[in-house]
Amino acid sequence: MQSRLPQEFLNTPAGQRANAALSNCVHCGFCNATCPTYLLLGNELDGPRGRIYLIKQLLEGESDGDRSRLHLDRCLTCRNCETTCPSGVRYGQLVDVAREHLDRVAPRPLWQRLRNALLVHGLGSPRLVSLVTTLGRLASPLLPAGMNRQLRRQPAPPPEPAPAGAGRVLLHDGCVQSAMSPEINQHAQRVLARLNTDCEGAAGCCGALAYHTGDPERARRQARANLGHWLPRIEHGDLRLVSTASGCGVFLKSYAELLEDDSTYREPARRFVAAVRDLSEAVLEADPARLPANGKGRVAFQSSCTLQHGMGLGGKVEGILEAAGYELVPVAEAHLCCGSAGSYSLLQPALAGQLRERKLRNLEQAGPERIATANIGCLMHLRSGTATPVQHWITLLDEASAADG
Ligand code: SF4
Ligand code: SF4
Repeated sequence: MQSRLPQEFLNTPAGQRANAALSNCVHCGFCNATCPTYLLLGNELDGPRGRIYLIKQLLEGESDGDRSRLHLDRCLTCRNCETTCPSGVRYGQLVDVAREHLDRVAPRPLWQRLRNALLVHGLGSPRLVSLVTTLGRLASPLLPAGMNRQLRRQPAPPPEPAPAGAGRVLLHDGCVQSAMSPEINQHAQRVLARLNTDCEGAAGCCGALAYHTGDPERARRQARANLGHWLPRIEHGDLRLVSTASGCGVFLKSYAELLEDDSTYREPARRFVAAVRDLSEAVLEADPARLPANGKGRVAFQSSCTLQHGMGLGGKVEGILEAAGYELVPVAEAHLCCGSAGSYSLLQPALAGQLRERKLRNLEQAGPERIATANIGCLMHLRSGTATPVQHWITLLDEASAADG
């Protein structure tokens, strides 16, 4: 697609990323077939091809901000369109550039900025999330069943010491997951210990929440602070940083692009990204074939968008769980987003609800005993819509590998 982006913008890394995506798009429309919002709304402007056209107009300075915002806000940033696109258009990078540009040239109404700031500060504070979770548990008789399922405390497994001389990794402890489901990292620690790997905690919000809620500068500050804390530990010990939430993992892996404009942090960010691993990568690198494989039962795996489209790791967890003994049931439309998408389920509840129902129908069609996923946001969102247990996949792997026989 030909575009006429201003030269000044083209001279920036963001302008170059946007220009590359626009030039690669040949307007074929293949991506519309797998776009969840296009499937639901049937409107060209709610599919990737139409959004790319809107973004081109926006970046050329020829667009009405409200129309662009309506359709860009409805986009889940699931990046399903990237997986489908035969021309390699990096839509995720393009929409990130467009949203930041839109907020500069046509700021959101004050009430939306306040709402987003509240979300970022509230969900980004593990203490506040813990407090609200505790209050919610106390008020459980008054709450709907779906919310109670989200708030229910999951049992914490006992710690498992790694053998002497084990290798080490940093285990990322993010904000929402550490407050709502701390047992996920405990399960990961136990499995990694069995794989001769010891875990050190690395606490800190990755910045994804702020970035996707209209505060990219706060996200960059969080990224710089994280680099300051983690990179010396990574480089001193030749360690990897492992993320158990695919939504955080994909954002941590984007630090090089996030800080590309920053001459001080650009290089450190690239070195950091090379050391980031999703939990499935860390488990596979540690040779899971040596684990006991006592998994039992039928499991439906929901491959989060950040895992399969964002990091290109589709099929990895399914393979790990099958090798651990579980029967993985077929799931139709496995490429489609469940509607969680970070803060999307809070900001676009009607569309998020429709996508959750569609996802759960597909997940439950073959009658699984459990649903497994790779991301805390998907886990909470799905739990609110079904009585079938929804767990992080590492919980299942811990169970299957706990002991022989
Ligand atoms: S599939 Fe790729 S090239 Fe075709 S319209 Fe979509 S983004 Fe453009
Ligand atoms: S990121 Fe997802 S919702 Fe957005 S245009 Fe692409 S496929 Fe559609």
